[in-house]
Amino acid sequence: MREVAQMSSVFACLLEIEPPAVAALPALALLASNAVGLAAIGRATWRLRCERALRAAACGLDPDVDRDPLTGPPVHRDPLTGLPTRRLFRDRLAQSLSLADREGKGVALLCIELDGFQALAQLIGGPAAQRLLREIANRLVATARDTDAVARLGPASFGIVQPLGGTPREAWAMAQRLLAALSEPFPLDGRLVAIAACIGIALHPTNGGSADMLIGNAETALGRVKPETGSGGICFFEQQMNTHLHARHALEHDLRHALERDELLLHYQPLFDSRSLRIVGYEALLRWRHPTRGTVSPAEFIPLAEECGLIAPIGSWVLRTACAEASLWSRPLRVAVNLSPIQFRNRDLALLVAGILAETGLPASRLELEVTEGVLIDDTTSALAILRELKAQGIAIALDDFGTGYSSLSYLRSFPFDKLKIDRSFVRELGEDREADAIVRSILALCRSLNLDVTAEGVETPEQLALLREQDCSQVQGFLLGRPVGREELAHALV
Ligand code: C2E
Ligand code: MG
Ligand code: MG
Repeated sequence: MREVAQMSSVFACLLEIEPPAVAALPALALLASNAVGLAAIGRATWRLRCERALRAAACGLDPDVDRDPLTGPPVHRDPLTGLPTRRLFRDRLAQSLSLADREGKGVALLCIELDGFQALAQLIGGPAAQRLLREIANRLVATARDTDAVARLGPASFGIVQPLGGTPREAWAMAQRLLAALSEPFPLDGRLVAIAACIGIALHPTNGGSADMLIGNAETALGRVKPETGSGGICFFEQQMNTHLHARHALEHDLRHALERDELLLHYQPLFDSRSLRIVGYEALLRWRHPTRGTVSPAEFIPLAEECGLIAPIGSWVLRTACAEASLWSRPLRVAVNLSPIQFRNRDLALLVAGILAETGLPASRLELEVTEGVLIDDTTSALAILRELKAQGIAIALDDFGTGYSSLSYLRSFPFDKLKIDRSFVRELGEDREADAIVRSILALCRSLNLDVTAEGVETPEQLALLREQDCSQVQGFLLGRPVGREELAHALV
């Protein structure tokens, strides 16, 4: 399995695709076991990259399956699978809806999406991907009833209409049958390839009167499957999904303007030496002061910024502002800045940080960067290289929220972190929950033997502080000793 993980990061790196998508592909295990030589992969890389665009079109992965690639006019059948395209499907669905309305019956629409198919196609090559798609289409048709209409809606998505009498129960049963059919591995060129899929379901008349609305709502349900149930899940559309989606779009719209409207600012929370209870540094925590929403929590907008591609400019702003403000402090204390795993997709991150240090005049030894385990899950090789470059500049690297993710000890071996921060969920339970006590005690023992600094986050009570000091936890941070404060308040506290 280690080889598979290594191969997955090599593939991800070479193909410039999302590593989690590659890692999620069971097919990779089969490919890895074929012992493909790394040298051969390297040689093939540039060719793969050059051909990618061509291949996407050639293997039928072009999103616009309604267009004839040569002549341009709309086509009604997908040339690859022979299934109706979205356009024809919409017409058929509209007919089914009118018929169902006349007879007072329901219609169910199922949208199926293959997980990570584009990455798989890049891995196995265009011709194999074409054959696989055809086989998938055949299985869907064979699993559906004769009266159901099956169509190809997108590069890796299909739609099925259950006309007349499509009840929630029937739709659910059909979705399960479809997933079961797709879960059987596909024989392909002498090997077995496994795929995974998700299904979103919308019902007529409850979830939509028109074909477009029903398709849109089934696709919205599809979009919710993965966050809620993960790969291989089924989700029915619910009206609040649209409300949720609209609220998200509005927040995203506002966040896009937050930087230019100067609505972002930093608060600073002190970190204390647990023996002397002296302040040893401050953690910069981002705040968004929105004109009508009030102060929006980073827990709410950082994940959104990560999803909509705004974390890079926001993250750079945080770094630049924290370094510039810390360089003006009256005492040369350390400033800790949180980095998102997404920021590590920028291979020049270490250069960016070096530039900001030079620009603001903050010595590297005064900067600490806090990363979470997510950094090492995403693309270990490249993330480790960036972390090493940062450390070589003299910047301290802390592993934040320890205990909440995989907490794999191999992370501690793979990179010489300077510090580990014990997540507040464990500190909160200290003295009240034996397991939390044991976990904190073991993490502290581990840090002692690895000679790592350790900060306990979220210390709120004198009892928690006493227990941590007893067990030689080197630093503490929490509301008991100091809450995050704004720039001006901090300036007063520092004199
Ligand atoms: P974090 O880095 O683990 O930061 C600590 C969080 O715990 C902060 O929440 C802080 O206000 C809160 N906290 C500290 N002491 C206590 C305590 O005693 N009790 C309680 N209940 N909470 C305490 P905040 O500021 O809401 O930030 C939440 C998370 O948002 C941060 O967790 C961090 O992951 C992320 N974040 C904040 N600023 C940034 C940023 O500039 N960039 C990135 N990428 N993430 C950020
Ligand atoms: Mg932090
Ligand atoms: Mg934390």
